[in-house]
Order: sequence, then structure tokens, then C-alpha cells
Amino acid sequence: MFHFTRNHFRTTRMSTRATPSSTQSTGQPRDASADVLISGGGLVGQVLALALARHGLSSIMVDPADPIASLAPHFDGRASAIASAPWKMLQAIGLGDALRAHGCPIERIWVSDGLQPGEIDFAPPGDEPLGVMFENRQLRRALADGVAACDAIDLRAPARTQNIERAPNRVTLTLADGSRLSAPLIAVCEGRGSATRDAAGIPLARWSYHHGAMIGAFAHAEPHENVAYEIFYPSGPFAILPLNDLPDGRHRSAFVWSVQEADAPAYMRLGPRGYRAELLRLMGGILGEVEEIAPRALFPLSFQRATQITADRMALVGDSAHAIHPIAGQGFNLGLRDVAALVEILVDGARLGMDLGDAQLLERYSRWRGLDNLSVAAATDILTRLFGVPGKGASLLRRAGMAGVQKLHPLKGFFMDEARGEGGDLPKLLAGALV
Ligand SMILES: Cc1cc2nc3c(=O)[nH]c(=O)nc-3n(C[C@H](O)[C@H](O)[C@H](O)COP(=O)(O)OP(=O)(O)OC[C@H]3O[C@@H](n4cnc5c(N)ncnc54)[C@H](O)[C@@H]3O)c2cc1C
Repeated sequence: MFHFTRNHFRTTRMSTRATPSSTQSTGQPRDASADVLISGGGLVGQVLALALARHGLSSIMVDPADPIASLAPHFDGRASAIASAPWKMLQAIGLGDALRAHGCPIERIWVSDGLQPGEIDFAPPGDEPLGVMFENRQLRRALADGVAACDAIDLRAPARTQNIERAPNRVTLTLADGSRLSAPLIAVCEGRGSATRDAAGIPLARWSYHHGAMIGAFAHAEPHENVAYEIFYPSGPFAILPLNDLPDGRHRSAFVWSVQEADAPAYMRLGPRGYRAELLRLMGGILGEVEEIAPRALFPLSFQRATQITADRMALVGDSAHAIHPIAGQGFNLGLRDVAALVEILVDGARLGMDLGDAQLLERYSRWRGLDNLSVAAATDILTRLFGVPGKGASLLRRAGMAGVQKLHPLKGFFMDEARGEGGDLPKLLAGALV
């Protein structure tokens, strides 16, 4: 690992060893400074803090949520597909040992128009899976443990931000308890509803899909054989995502079922038998009998994209910059790609002795991420609309298109690279190497 004398000195001098329980506000202001301020300690903010720390850069991470509440031990039904390139990054920054045993590899992706023939079957050659499925609670636990063990990360949570001042040479964030925290750069990882992005006057392109995604998990009779299914219905897509078997040996998958906004409350109210019947109808017996094993949750679906991802001494990262339909399981992956690019740029900048909030570094981040974010967001949006067109004619056209992709190996290879997160100009972390 590369250590910068300047930053490493500052890291060891200023950092407090933060654990979720020890970061509760004592009412006493604690001023501090670091290389980067991170506003928002969700999945993306924590990965950013750990990736910076692995390269000798310190951070102060602020979040109003209580970390204890987000570390509930039971499975809440939320799971995420991590594409193979971002998974390499998580391992490179030291999360492999904590996560590996929990991950269920995705070896094939099966895409179909309803249950009609004419599907596309993405199965990469070789041993490397397309991605890995994790329960979100396992990701949250591994990240929280990593952050707590890292001296270079000063976690302030739960803590409320009162003011953020972006002066010409520094950003200063004042907490409600009076603590003044400063750095040359603020990374905004506050999720879709980012207040800091809005306060900076960054406009959003946004629209609602008028759909809700019901998520949950079920045990099933037949093994999933590490296949993820994307089954498109005109009423909304239905995804089945493989998880590791339960301790009692039962097979298990997570699902994301998107339905019209108006229909969602009625589906959510269905009892276990009625819901099971609906699941079986959607799956057409693919995995045999099913039984729900996690609480259902409903997420309203919308698209939003910040028209710019940087401002003076500020970078938007993750859902604060772009929030997309979960149809292809790419939202968190895009955030991880943001992290990989931003870390590489900041590490390069620090090596050259640059101010980490320098406009040239931010310009590089904006250019690097702009095209990739736009193309993934646009592809997901087009896919959602294309498969939402009802009628036999539209279905025939889609199936002909899918048959074409299935036969054309270069096109299929392109889609597989995108699913793996390996398309475009790849930052080093996404290839599994430190910068
Ligand atoms: C149904 C569903 C399924 C999905 N499945 C997948 C998948 O399989 N694969 C995938 O890649 N993606 C998936 N996603 C997308 C993924 O969940 C998000 O992209 C990801 O969680 C975004 O992380 P984030 O850290 O940017 O934002 P968030 O997870 O929203 O975290 C934001 C954090 O910022 C904090 N915060 C908020 N406001 C402030 C403030 N003013 N100051 C400081 N902190 C603040 C919050 O408390 C929170 O901790 C899915 C999404 C949905 C809805």
C-alpha cells in the first residue's frame, strides 16, 4: 500500500478510532480536520471512506442515522447484486474476508419476455461469475466493522449537520453540537434526497415510473443453480436473485417485483397464501414450490440524475448523483464505480501534492463518471419502457430482438461486460488493484 507522508502524518495525528457506539454525541463539540469530508454514511459513503483509508487518506463521515438501528441482525429481505468488477474493489479494500462466505455467485442471467420462449441467457465462459449476491445486512455489518476498525475514519453518527460552508480554500461542516469539521473537499453520499446537493442549487432531471418495487425473499423446492432471472411483464419486471441456502438446507432467493403504483398496496396486503399463488404464477414453476421467508417492503420507483456531479469543492457520489430503476441491479454498482474513479483521482492528486478540492481534479471526476452514469441510466430507463409496452406485436418484436442478441456473440459479450461492471475506462480499483 502506498502511504503519503503528508496525509499519513495527518491521519495518525487527527483521527479518532470510531465505533458505532462510541460516536454518539456527547454534547461536547469535537473539532477535526481530514483529507475528505463525507456527508452520508450509507453503503456508498462507507465504501468511499474505507477506500480512501486504504490509500492513506483520512476522512470524517457524518450521518444523521443511528448506526445501531441499521445493524439489526435479522434478515430484512433486502439484498444486492454486486457486479464482478465492484466485487473486486470491495476485496481490494479489505472486505473480502468479512464478505466472501456470505456471497452467492451469479453464474448466469436469464432474461425473458414473460414466460415465453426466446430468452437471452448470459453465461460467461470460464469460472468467473457475473456478480455476487449479498444480503444488505451482511454488507452493512462488514462495512460498519471495517469503518470501526479504521483509525483514518472519524465517524460522526448519529449527528445532524447545521451548516456547510464551502469557502475558496476549504469546506467547513458545523454539526448541531457545535463541532467544526473541515477538509479541502466534501463528498456528498446522502442518497436520493440529498439536502446538500439541493442546497448547492444543483438541478435534477427526474420522473416517476408510477411503479413500486416489492422486495422480499422466499425458500424454494428446486436449487437455483446460481441463476438470476429477469422476467419482464407489461405490468412490470420480476427478478429472482440467488442467495445462499438457509442453514437448514432449504434453497433461497430474493425477489424484486415491480407493479403499477395503484396496485402495489393491494399486493402488499395479500396474505401468505395469496402472495405465494402470485409468485408461482409469475415464476411458472421455475423453482418449484415457494414459501416467503422475509418481510416484504415496497419502494416507489423513480429516475433522477443530477445535471452536474461537481460544484466548488464538492463531488456527488452514489444515489445523490443518480438513482435508477432497480431492474438491472445497477444502482449501488454505479455508486461503487463513482467511488473507484474518485479515489483514483484523489490519490493521484495527493501524490502530486495537489489541493484535493482542486477544480482540475473535480473536472476529471465529472468527465470520467459522466458518460458511464448517463449510459447506464439511459439503458435502464429504455429497458424499463421497452418491456412495459403491452400487446402481442410488441412482445414478438422484443423476442426477435432477444433472439438476435442471443446469437450475436460480440453483442452478448458487450452486455456481459456491462453486467459485470467491466465496460469503459476502468479505474484500477475495479480491476482489483490499489491505485
Ligand atoms: C428495490 C431495490 C433493489 C435494489 N437492488 C440493487 C442491486 O441488486 N444492486 C445494486 O447495485 N443496487 C441496487 N439498488 C440500488 C441501491 O440500493 C442504491 O443505489 C444504494 O443503496 C445507494 O447507496 P447510497 O449510499 O448512495 O445511498 P443511501 O443508501 O440512500 O444512503 C444515504 C445515507 O446518507 C444519509 N443521509 C441522508 N441525508 C443526509 C444528510 N443531509 N447529511 C448526512 N447524511 C445524510 C442517510 O442516513 C444514509 O445513511 C436497489 C434499490 C432498490 C430500491
